Amino acid sequence: MQIYKVGGAVRDRLLGIPVTDIDWVVVGATTEEMLAKGFRPVGADFPVFLHPKSGEEYALARTERKSGRGYGGFTFHASPEVTLEEDLIRRDLTINAMAEDDQQNLTDPYHGQQDLKDRLLRHVSPAFAEDPLRVLRVARFAARYAGLGFTVAPQTLELMRQLADSGELQALTAERSWKEISRALMEDQPQIFIEVLRECGALKVLMPEVDALFGVPQPEAHHPEIDTGVHTLSVLQQSALHKLPLTVRWACLLHDLGKGLTPTEEWPRHIAHEHTGLKLIKAVNERFKVPKDCQELALLVGQYHTHGHRALELKPSTLLELLQSFDVYRRPQRFEEFIAACEMDARGRKGLEQRSYPQADYLRGAAAAARGVAVQPLLEQGFKGPELGEAIKRERLKAIKAYKEHA
Ligand code: ATP
Ligand code: MG
Repeated sequence: MQIYKVGGAVRDRLLGIPVTDIDWVVVGATTEEMLAKGFRPVGADFPVFLHPKSGEEYALARTERKSGRGYGGFTFHASPEVTLEEDLIRRDLTINAMAEDDQQNLTDPYHGQQDLKDRLLRHVSPAFAEDPLRVLRVARFAARYAGLGFTVAPQTLELMRQLADSGELQALTAERSWKEISRALMEDQPQIFIEVLRECGALKVLMPEVDALFGVPQPEAHHPEIDTGVHTLSVLQQSALHKLPLTVRWACLLHDLGKGLTPTEEWPRHIAHEHTGLKLIKAVNERFKVPKDCQELALLVGQYHTHGHRALELKPSTLLELLQSFDVYRRPQRFEEFIAACEMDARGRKGLEQRSYPQADYLRGAAAAARGVAVQPLLEQGFKGPELGEAIKRERLKAIKAYKEHA
């Protein structure tokens, strides 16, 4: 058997980027031989194994043919006769379809090196269209390598457009889609992911609620960029510049969905968009079976981001309600993430990227004041049950009032 490094490890070494995980392909071997060498099979009918020591993935060289809709609709053919070139041609992009032996000799039948030089994300063959997930993968790689000057080759974008139009994207499972979406959001330029999806028409299919924001105006006084889609992308970009976690990035992407529902006669104002957006945020959350912490934060930020911006003007009772909604007493981290999302929303506006956001510290101070209320003295005064709850609330309100007076 011959063993080659493939995929991202080869690509990133040639780009001079640190390699994190290594994928291997094995030519000329059978499943039995792999098992005899101590490799552990990954799945029942998938010719992929884990190395007994390194845990890295070793796949038998295989060909693939599409046999139906969706991801289940693939037949694999793995056998010792499948050549390296046959395995590489089924891969998504030319820069991902190179292999390297242990002497660093490169096998590059589809000119990945040339495309690395030309900074092009180009499909390997027309079989690209057989797996709609590749639309998301290409958009993700576009986001990852935008800083190096990579763009999607026009013919590849055309194939992506055809895939988006064909309805095949709907056949993707939530799990496969979310894996790509979440990884793309964690790139340095996640807004490029959304832009590429939009350019090929996939955004309209995957997240019509986000797509609908483009072309929707906002008041120029607060939003010099005017367009809500442009604003959303800047907010997302700010969240990446500030290295914020996935929860915050997801909330940034969805925070203004309600503005897509505003009747045009109300433009450029968006009264109550925080409220109208909630059912849309919920729908997107459920479509991709998004992890619970991301779902929750997106809904909370959607509902309360305007409160965040107006923090200094809020009445003590409204501030208290806000803190209660976030359960800041038990979930201080989540409130920090909310504050971060609000700050990104304020900075994701043309020319205002460097503005200060005094609301952040003000909200932190209010939360600290409310959290500072001790329960023990109230217990000692004999409060119990619902009365205790009321007494705690009263004390917290007092603390927030005092805080507001001195802030
Ligand atoms: P990363 O740095 O994100 O891991 P990668 O290119 O190594 O990038 P993987 O998901 O680890 O991406 O996949 C390894 C390789 O397998 C890819 O480089 C590509 O050649 C191939 N591949 C993975 N998924 C697909 C797919 N859906 N269609 C075609 N080829 C794929
Ligand atoms: Mg990899």
